[in-house]
Amino acid sequence: MNRPIVQLQNVHKSFGPFKALNDINLDIRQGEILTLLGPSGCGKTTLMRIIAGFEAPTSGSLLIAGNDAVALPPEKRSVNMVFQRYALFPHLDVFDNVAFGLRLQGVSKTQIKEQVNAMLHLVQLDSFANRWINELSGGQCQRVALARALVNRPDVLLLDEPLAALDLKIRHHMLKELKRIHEETGTTFVYVTHDQDEAMILSDRVVLMNKGEIEQLGSPQDLYAAPESLFCARFFGDTNIVEGQVGGVSDGLADISTAFFSARGAVRRASTGASVSLSIRPEAIRLDAAASDDTSPSHNAITGDIEDVMFIGNRVVYQVKHGDSLFTCQQARPVACIEHAPGSRVRLSWPDEAVVVLTH
Ligand code: ATP
Repeated sequence: MNRPIVQLQNVHKSFGPFKALNDINLDIRQGEILTLLGPSGCGKTTLMRIIAGFEAPTSGSLLIAGNDAVALPPEKRSVNMVFQRYALFPHLDVFDNVAFGLRLQGVSKTQIKEQVNAMLHLVQLDSFANRWINELSGGQCQRVALARALVNRPDVLLLDEPLAALDLKIRHHMLKELKRIHEETGTTFVYVTHDQDEAMILSDRVVLMNKGEIEQLGSPQDLYAAPESLFCARFFGDTNIVEGQVGGVSDGLADISTAFFSARGAVRRASTGASVSLSIRPEAIRLDAAASDDTSPSHNAITGDIEDVMFIGNRVVYQVKHGDSLFTCQQARPVACIEHAPGSRVRLSWPDEAVVVLTH
């Protein structure tokens, strides 16, 4: 396990009476890509700004590379930040933008040339050194911003929604580029986004935040397959939520009854009679044609009528109506697939392993 490069302990941040961060405890491991994910206003940027030194915590401690960093100004921390709007200098060309920090430190001309060229090569802008910033595309500006931040060889690079201004195709390309640059430099990346796809693609670990607190911390796979709360199940990927009641618990498995079906799923702490929510991911649901008179609820299965069909290239997403409830179900689409038409009666079924029981 890599040692922590940043350690936040009992960090609180208030703006007047408003608590933006509440008791944050977090170790960021050397060399990892850690993503702060959560809805707008949950405190991601505030946490990032505290690490960068642009904001002081109201209370709590911050260690960077084992040293108390709370009193250190931003330029004395081995941390650099890439902003959403790049914050490049329009009156300087690409080379001078990247060279800026090195010149401030008094690095020699030969060294600057060598290091800036190496960074421009890293971000694949070798032939753009003499371009003005207003002659670059959004993706190229983002690369200059990355080169400018990385040239100082920070221990930690903070990236605040760096791809938000780019369109989807370029965003996907830049995500790959970020992974490559991370691998080549070994720098610790702390990445802020409210886009769960970006978080899944990029991160070693994800910190899911909600109202100034850490809701869950884990690998993208952990958060997706084993959400610990309704908030996490809903925020990280699409899911179907059904309310139910625990009928009995044995060996970490609970028998659940719902208004529509019975189910069994892994549970952390729940006692007989407790109200719970079940999360079932759309891709875990199998969809088959059903007889028109088949309505009986059963174990891990319901019948319903297709209300909507969405064709999304390699997959088809069905909305299936059962009583007043809508279930979303997603099927991979083989080349010769015959899709179920709206109005068709279908049977939805899933295995026990697909059911995640969330206690209230
Ligand atoms: P977004 O995804 O919209 O950028 P965020 O998760 O990054 O949101 P923050 O910018 O950290 O959220 O803000 C957290 C909360 O703290 C918000 O309610 C915000 O309005 C508040 N806040 C942030 N900075 C200040 C400030 N300087 N003064 C007062 N309130 C602030």
